[in-house]
Amino acid sequence: MRVTPEVMARYEAVIGLEVHAQLDTVTKAFCGCSTNFGDAPNSNTCPVCLGLPGALPVLNKRALELAMRASLAINCTIQERSRFARKNYFYPDLPKGYQISMYELPLATGGWIDIDVEGEKKRIGVTRLHMEDDAGKSLHEGFADSDRWSYIDFNRCGVPLIEIVSEPDLRAPAEAYAYLNALKQILEYTEVSDCNMEEGSLRCDANVSVRPRGAPKFGIKAEVKNLNSFRYLSHALEYEIERQIGVLESGGTMVQETRLWNVAAGRTEPMRSKEFAHDYRYFPDPDLLPVAVSAVQIEQARKAMPELPDAKTARFLHDYGITPYDAGVLTATRALGDYFEAVVRAGAPAKPAANWVAGELLRRLKDAGQDILACPLPAAALAELIVKVENDEITAASGKKVFAKMFETGKSAADVIAAEGFSQISDAGAIERIAREVVKKNPDNVAKFKSGNEGVFKFFVGQVMRETRGQANPQLVNEVVKRILSE
Ligand code: ADP
Ligand code: ZN
Ligand code: MG
Repeated sequence: MRVTPEVMARYEAVIGLEVHAQLDTVTKAFCGCSTNFGDAPNSNTCPVCLGLPGALPVLNKRALELAMRASLAINCTIQERSRFARKNYFYPDLPKGYQISMYELPLATGGWIDIDVEGEKKRIGVTRLHMEDDAGKSLHEGFADSDRWSYIDFNRCGVPLIEIVSEPDLRAPAEAYAYLNALKQILEYTEVSDCNMEEGSLRCDANVSVRPRGAPKFGIKAEVKNLNSFRYLSHALEYEIERQIGVLESGGTMVQETRLWNVAAGRTEPMRSKEFAHDYRYFPDPDLLPVAVSAVQIEQARKAMPELPDAKTARFLHDYGITPYDAGVLTATRALGDYFEAVVRAGAPAKPAANWVAGELLRRLKDAGQDILACPLPAAALAELIVKVENDEITAASGKKVFAKMFETGKSAADVIAAEGFSQISDAGAIERIAREVVKKNPDNVAKFKSGNEGVFKFFVGQVMRETRGQANPQLVNEVVKRILSE
């Protein structure tokens, strides 16, 4: 059923996200196998992660440290005692026959993440953060019945994950997007996860329901599984909200179910009726000790916490006096913020440094498909260029050309300027000679100026700039032209 915007406006969406992030450890959650992505299939396996009888898992200390750091970064309370349980289900790429996950005693509870949607701030509750292990990967190949193959790669089995469950506090796809973005940024800043969505390091399930605006109770939700990109999350939510409103408007009722986002068809499709906790027959994993976290360990995790995105943004605003927009851009990643600060430390004034990094540099990197970590231009080299522009040694226009050359060749600003003759003409005598030429060639415009048409002043300045290929000091040109015209 098509739903008109008027009908849509009578409803409100309610959304809660369950986000899985792979912890950035060298080895798996409960064994010593490598977590390296892209290794030969099934090369990183052992009796523990394959669930062979008699194998004994041992919790990876580093995984616990990273999970604790993530918990604190999203303002959760770490529980002194948590516990791993077995979540039993059959799946071909789950050789143990169960997932190890925390159930009734999660690692951390009761946190929040602040989001910003078009300048409006909102605090989204986090219900819990718990640890678990990942399953393997199935690959399907071929279409003809006689030539269809399925492969299983167990390398990902036992890789450590955290699951972060939000409260149903989100009210629109844009809020869900902002929440996932803020969470991703925090996990990247804290180096808890590389959050590489293509490699499956960050995955998201979206729970969504609708209710008539102002209704006191939530509607019945559907869970949309495995949204592994921001675009899919937005599209799936928009589709699902409209679908649910359509069902209710045509007199139907919602059933609680699990759905999948069909990328090709651009719609959500039923996958299975909703499973309940009791379907999994959870029970405490008898092979693993309860997780006991001491106050000292929590204090250590707190001390190891790097500056978080919101704090960095606030500090940039306060210390550098840059615009909120620039501060937002420059703190998008920790590496970009570090680069900007290195440029300032190397002597560039903060505001122009912010402009150059957020503008010219990011544009170039994007065009070259490069990350700031692989930036060919050292921060000190950019600082040198910025200082030259700020000191009027070269014009802003030349500065951009010099910048492009530096980016391409790795040469210093001084070398490029010397080689290409970009030095700004600040010699008043030279500028005056050129200005007199221009004035002599344009007696009509001189007459216009003398009869009160001030607009032609710009024409003369433009002509002088052109004659000097944009290298004349603009302020000096202004002064000289003004003087000559009023002679
Ligand atoms: P379940 O028992 O189905 O796993 P939970 O209460 O554990 O449900 O919640 C799972 C996720 O669904 C959480 O992110 C929560 O915020 C969200 N959620 C719960 N109820 C609703 C609802 N009515 N509409 C949308 N999201 C919801
Ligand atoms: Zn293993
Ligand atoms: Mg649940």
